[in-house]
Amino acid sequence: MAHNSEIKQLVFTVKDLCRMCFTCVRECPVKAIRIINGQAEVVSERCIGCGNCVRVCRQGAKNFVRNTHQVLDMLGNGKRMVAMVAPSFPAEFTELDRPERLVGMMRSLGFEKVTEVAFGADLVAQKYRSLFLEGDHGAVISSDCPAIVYYVEHYHPELTHHLARIVSPMVAAARNLRRKYGDDITIVFVGPCIAKKAESDEVRYAITFTELREMFAIKGIKAEDCEVSAFDPPLAGKGSVFPISHGLLQNMGVTADLTRGDVVVAEGRVNIKDAINEFANGALNARHLELLCCEGCIMGPGMSPKGNKYERRSQVSAYVSGKLENFDQQAWENEMAEAEAVDLSTSFAPRDRRMQRPDTEAINAVLTKLGKTRPSDLLDCGACGYDSCIEHAVAVLQGLAEDEMCLPYTIEKLHQSIEHLNLSNAELANAREALRQSEKLAHMGQLSAGIAHELNNPLGVITMYSNLLLDDAPDDQMRHDLQLIVEQTERCRKIVGGLLNFARKNQVRLMETDVEKLVNRSLQSVVIPSNVSVEVEVELTDPYAYIDADQMMQALTNLEKNAVEAMPAGGTLRLVLKEKPDEITISICDTGTGISPDNMDRIFTPFFTTKEVGKGTGLGLPLCYGIVKMHKGQINVSSNNQPEKGPTGTTFTIVLPRKPLS
Ligand code: ADP
Ligand code: MG
Repeated sequence: MAHNSEIKQLVFTVKDLCRMCFTCVRECPVKAIRIINGQAEVVSERCIGCGNCVRVCRQGAKNFVRNTHQVLDMLGNGKRMVAMVAPSFPAEFTELDRPERLVGMMRSLGFEKVTEVAFGADLVAQKYRSLFLEGDHGAVISSDCPAIVYYVEHYHPELTHHLARIVSPMVAAARNLRRKYGDDITIVFVGPCIAKKAESDEVRYAITFTELREMFAIKGIKAEDCEVSAFDPPLAGKGSVFPISHGLLQNMGVTADLTRGDVVVAEGRVNIKDAINEFANGALNARHLELLCCEGCIMGPGMSPKGNKYERRSQVSAYVSGKLENFDQQAWENEMAEAEAVDLSTSFAPRDRRMQRPDTEAINAVLTKLGKTRPSDLLDCGACGYDSCIEHAVAVLQGLAEDEMCLPYTIEKLHQSIEHLNLSNAELANAREALRQSEKLAHMGQLSAGIAHELNNPLGVITMYSNLLLDDAPDDQMRHDLQLIVEQTERCRKIVGGLLNFARKNQVRLMETDVEKLVNRSLQSVVIPSNVSVEVEVELTDPYAYIDADQMMQALTNLEKNAVEAMPAGGTLRLVLKEKPDEITISICDTGTGISPDNMDRIFTPFFTTKEVGKGTGLGLPLCYGIVKMHKGQINVSSNNQPEKGPTGTTFTIVLPRKPLS
């Protein structure tokens, strides 16, 4: 069997150039493109070498295997090299004054003979003709396009027996050349096709027109230096129109009755799939399916990326009609008669490469993940390269596609990320502010601890001696003065003690504590004037939290004292306890004067006080702040000091995690 069955990598991706447009996915008739991290990769086991992806990639990120250098090496080695040129060449080398100048250029490369593949088309057309006229076999799918053959063998293996067991024009021409010129020739096919590279061992290399141009460039061969030269025999007849669609049909010399639907012609990736599917479903009553993967070989991926379909058609037609004017019918008939001895048969084998289709449940799971839960969510927009959302989901499950290929899903995700980003931005700003505050407090803490430590001893000495003097005071005046010294020194020691408390860092002894009891006890150590009423609201099912009870007591009494001091004309002090599963919130609310917006920023700063000298130290709130932070909690304040805006008053809220260390 001449057929090549090993898997050759024909097409590959140039990773750096791939830009996530998914056009190759869309254009691949067999979905042989896998997207990984947004980059396309050709799956060789699935590829049929049609080269659609090469043709459509605007980035030039798809390339095919090139054999330029191997062929040049062989040409330099004194072998008997015979070229076979595909009949689409007039549509490629349009810059030549006469298409036959190409033959001269190829001779300059070192080819001993330059021949026409189209003669193979003449031979093959005759075979198809007799097959068609016999009529007693089943329906026939033409096997002249290698990509179609692979497509049927791999993706419709059940239809393999319908493939005409006739070699392609290329192989037919090769077999005839061996008969005519001997077995020692090395045959190189030159044409517009990538799939041909894997078609047959009977041709040493199948190169594209673009590779032939590369060879001319490497060897410095220019058209103007080469002669116009005729092809070597056998010269082709009507086979030369093969590359424009319906070519083979025209060659067959049968006038198909289109009204009977005997013959179905389809070309291009969409049409051929439709035709084969309909044929497989029994919807087509055709006897002959003429299928070409490209829109005629003139649109093959091995052509230079320029030129329009109909212009190319007319270039081929013009060449053929010119050629047929001086056609030597007798010579052609003689060649055809001689070639009758050549065996033009081949065989095909099903080689199923279909992937298992995932079950509906799995497909629905992917769709749900992509936010498609209702039928109206299935937009089938095609941006991912798949025809429908369901096909995309199938490909995701088969490992060929990624979620992010779905445009609506990705846009939605982008919106969410922007929202998240905005939120974290705000959080970051808050955290930065908190950091600034605590840094400031830490510095103040260090400074005050130093000063307090130094002042503590001298104050102790003053207290001791003034007390001694007080005991021996001779008269009331002196006693009164000394009494004042003792009192004021005591006051200094208190301030110093407060400073030391404030500077005490990270020293908490956490014990499981009943917070409700603690709050009630804290009220007992604050002097509450008779014009202030106290309310305690408890909404706790579990009053326990791990805290340092002594320190928290200090924080609470400070807040309660502040509240009372803010209500000189009386009011209500309200304590509210609330909970969440892992935290307890204590709110201390008063109906006092409130804090002015200007002061809001400064109340936690050490030594900030609005109270008259001798009354306030400005150390209460910084101390509270430090204690709450050591419990990994938060302290917030809201206040109103403007009666025109509503009732005045202040609320401090402490949020304490039940287990600060976990
Ligand atoms: P001090 O009570 O010694 O002034 P604090 O640090 O306890 O120091 O408080 C700082 C300042 O914050 C107070 O002087 C006062 O202006 C303001 N303040 C604190 N708590 C209240 C409150 N409940 N109502 C009104 N103002 C308050
Ligand atoms: Mg205070």
